[in-house]
Amino acid sequence: MSNTSKIIASVRQQGRTVLTEIEAKQVFSEAGISTTATVLASSQTEAVALSEKIGFPVVLKVASPEITHKTDAGGVKVGLKNKAEVRKAYSEIMASVRPKYPKAKIYGVSVQSVARPGIEIIIGVFKDPQFGPVIMFGLGGIFVEVLKDVAFRIIPIVRRDAAEMIKEIKGYAMLNGYRGHEPAHIPSLEDILLKVSDFVEKTPGIKEIDLNPIFAYKDSAVAVDARIVLEDKP
Ligand code: ADP
Ligand code: MG
Repeated sequence: MSNTSKIIASVRQQGRTVLTEIEAKQVFSEAGISTTATVLASSQTEAVALSEKIGFPVVLKVASPEITHKTDAGGVKVGLKNKAEVRKAYSEIMASVRPKYPKAKIYGVSVQSVARPGIEIIIGVFKDPQFGPVIMFGLGGIFVEVLKDVAFRIIPIVRRDAAEMIKEIKGYAMLNGYRGHEPAHIPSLEDILLKVSDFVEKTPGIKEIDLNPIFAYKDSAVAVDARIVLEDKP
């Protein structure tokens, strides 16, 4: 049984449909998509120990399948430089998130290295009632949220579709580099689109995917946040 099947089976068994960031990143890693290595700390002490092991600076994020927008809940702290900052961040995350989600199951926090800044990309999947799974590509931040500058294709896609999706967004020029950003490596972004499409095709029961953001660099791309939602019924 693949690691992915085990994770999905265990999520189902717990009566959940949402994978945590850590579970989703394990699944995407197995699908060949590069993600920041992320581990679960179930206590403050463990968060400190894991941060030391990974090496500073680190990022702490609330780990709960019930909290979709971690930043909005005060559940993300980026750039923690030492043990004291990690300890403080852990307390602050719990203090901020708990009152907002009094009933949520919180596993602790995820711990990962701070990724080098890149051009922020979003890749997503949702189910259209008529066309089935649809894959989406866009630039992060205001490009998606305000300008709705995104491209869609029905899954499955081939490399030419992936290439066209990337080229057809209005912000395409941004991928050539701007404001001191290095350009984005287009083949790496095409690869992620294809791997997501393949994954959805061969994995039954996927309802929704969010890789938001992916940091694109001049020679690679890495997903720093990941989310998978399963269909209600297997
Ligand atoms: P959410 O989308 O649930 O609010 P994210 O995991 O996307 O939470 O984190 C929020 C923001 O923090 C991201 O958009 C990104 O800018 C930044 N971030 C998250 N993880 C990392 C990381 N490993 N390295 C650098 N920045 C990160
Ligand atoms: Mg995110």
